[in-house]
Amino acid sequence: MPIALTIAGSDPSGGAGIQADLKTFSALRAYGMSVITALTAQSTQGVDGVLAVPADFVKQQYYSIMRDSPIESIKIGMLMNKEIVYAVSHMLNQYPVPYTVLDTVMIAKGGQALLRDEAIEAIRQYLIPLSTIITPNLPEAAALLNCDEATNEKQMLAQGKALLQFGCQAVLMKGGHLACDQSPDYLITEHQVSRFNAPRIKTKNTHGTGCTLSAALTALLPTMPLIEAVEQAKHYLNGAIEHADTLHIGKGIGPTHH
Ligand code: PLP
Repeated sequence: MPIALTIAGSDPSGGAGIQADLKTFSALRAYGMSVITALTAQSTQGVDGVLAVPADFVKQQYYSIMRDSPIESIKIGMLMNKEIVYAVSHMLNQYPVPYTVLDTVMIAKGGQALLRDEAIEAIRQYLIPLSTIITPNLPEAAALLNCDEATNEKQMLAQGKALLQFGCQAVLMKGGHLACDQSPDYLITEHQVSRFNAPRIKTKNTHGTGCTLSAALTALLPTMPLIEAVEQAKHYLNGAIEHADTLHIGKGIGPTHH
């Protein structure tokens, strides 16, 4: 069983962040480990508070496990501030792993910031070049490129290609924010562009969908080619969204069903 590590924030309500990542790793048969970057106080109704972990202690968590176990893949989620971004880039340079999935988490669905604006430049400069794949949604892509959000697939593809120039091996542009019946995603590498289509599933319970997709990719990448890992990760997420309404967790935007 491959070991997958998530470097991310905690969601006590269990639908996003570290908790969603570990559930996804288990479901996809990877052994999950975690380095916590921030505690949040949140429920399905939104984020009430955030406490960032001191950057040195983020590093300490990583070094403890890296000296002990061979880790094949890492997912990076909520990082909160630039000190933590620098710490994660040092960690990955010192102990690199074969696969790194960077989920460019910035804002929760309820509108609360999970990353300070000042840290966006540090992510662009120090973390994207270390990533096997990055998984921005359309607002995140626009923030990274300092441009307007894409409103059609042509702009989305152009922005994905521009993000690839920051030095990652692949970009998965997630089109869920487009105003259309489908939810198209584009996988862009230097040699290939692949379009994935998914029907828009009618549910309000989408808390943690981005976390779940990037964690699924992290679990699957060590065992199959990139394009298959993206197909299977999307298949896993679609199933989790399709069954979300059977869960009945909380009064707000509920989690997906793993
Ligand atoms: N909380 C944490 C710790 C997260 O990492 C994320 C997303 O990455 C969220 C909350 C936001 O989840 P959502 O916007 O899907 O509700």
